[in-house]
Amino acid sequence: MKNKAEVVVVGGGVMGCSILYNLARRGVTDALLVEREALGAGSTGRSSGVVRMHYSSEVNARLAWKSLEILRNFGELVGGDSGFVNTGFMLFVPPEALDSFEKNIAMQQSIGIDTRIVSQEEAREIAPYMQVEDAAGICYEPQSGYADPPGVGQGYAAAARDLGAQISLENPALDVEVKGGRVAAVLTAKGRIETDTAVIAAGPWTGRLMKKLGFDLPLTPTRHEVIFLKRSIESLPTHPVVGDLVHMVYFRPEGPDLTLIGDMDVEVEADPDEYDQKAGMDFVEEMWPRVVRRLPALEEAEYFTGYAGLYTNTPDGHPIIDRVEGIEGLYICTGFNGHGFKESPAVGIVVSELMVDGEATTVDISTLGMGRFKAGTLNPINYAAKVIG
Ligand SMILES: Cc1cc2nc3c(=O)[nH]c(=O)nc-3n(C[C@H](O)[C@H](O)[C@H](O)COP(=O)(O)OP(=O)(O)OC[C@H]3O[C@@H](n4cnc5c(N)ncnc54)[C@H](O)[C@@H]3O)c2cc1C
Repeated sequence: MKNKAEVVVVGGGVMGCSILYNLARRGVTDALLVEREALGAGSTGRSSGVVRMHYSSEVNARLAWKSLEILRNFGELVGGDSGFVNTGFMLFVPPEALDSFEKNIAMQQSIGIDTRIVSQEEAREIAPYMQVEDAAGICYEPQSGYADPPGVGQGYAAAARDLGAQISLENPALDVEVKGGRVAAVLTAKGRIETDTAVIAAGPWTGRLMKKLGFDLPLTPTRHEVIFLKRSIESLPTHPVVGDLVHMVYFRPEGPDLTLIGDMDVEVEADPDEYDQKAGMDFVEEMWPRVVRRLPALEEAEYFTGYAGLYTNTPDGHPIIDRVEGIEGLYICTGFNGHGFKESPAVGIVVSELMVDGEATTVDISTLGMGRFKAGTLNPINYAAKVIG
């Protein structure tokens, strides 16, 4: 590992890898990413990979919309395979969410997102195996789907290496050395790396690193389970990606005959170094009936497997992408709750703009500052903010 770099990126999740690539693409090739374990070892490797545009804030919707273009054309624009599968996305909402839902759709349409409210009749035509009667509102995004989070991270990492960036694995950053109010070095398990610029993108571990630097940010790692059911492809060949706010469950197809299922309402704080990475049978029993209410054919499915991973929650369900106040040369990119993967291509772009040009221009990220918690200027929380954003 080299002992000097123009920029050090801390964390090899999809955000760190996207940042590393976008910096290199902008000419910052003397960049080094340090990763505690392996690329994708954090939230990224356990992500459900849903790619949809339905958000309640413009900043999240714009980040996702810009990212979709890249995820769809990943091989050509970055290299490698994003694993994007265009299944379409449907959101089902209960009566109490209808007002926010309609406002969100209008906002998304105003920025050009391909989404529309559909009638129950149209929803049945799009997804004939779905029960739709209990939803007060349904929308459809024909261009959405799902992709492969670790594959996207690896694609960015490989492309960044091709441009000259370097990656040091099994090498946790222990601290950031600050001298005279600016970054002097990143201290890692494998040695000191002299640098004047660093970005912390350490997912659920970011709060701990920031605490060492004197910042107490409201970043909470929470544990989320995911299960897979194996369905009969005769009775249910496939289905779109679904976010179901009526039954608080999301699901998507995986490969030819599996359905991935996750919850939209459970929040259990967890220690990132020590949490139960398996899905519990109580979760299977809780989720299965919920998904059957929307997809009755899954009643006959078989339980296949499950696991758990971590979100990095913030009080307003929005990430933190900013300069670190008071430490010249230090940046932070974290707090993506349960919806960061689909934004990662655009996040790498805006972070590289912030670091190289001093300002993000592709998407206005001024509402994602780390000072908003103390200032009380949180982003408005709409329904299911932690999951929908
Ligand atoms: C179960 C689950 C389902 C999800 N589903 C979706 C979804 O469907 N769609 C979607 O868009 N998003 C989803 N997400 C969210 C998405 O996966 C995350 O927002 C995204 O992966 C965050 O990426 P990251 O790079 O910020 O964090 P991470 O992937 O956690 O990466 C951080 C990296 O930093 C490393 N690290 C930590 N500390 C240090 C240190 N001191 N030094 C060096 N390295 C360090 C870690 O090992 C890790 O590799 C889901 C998440 C989970 C857990």
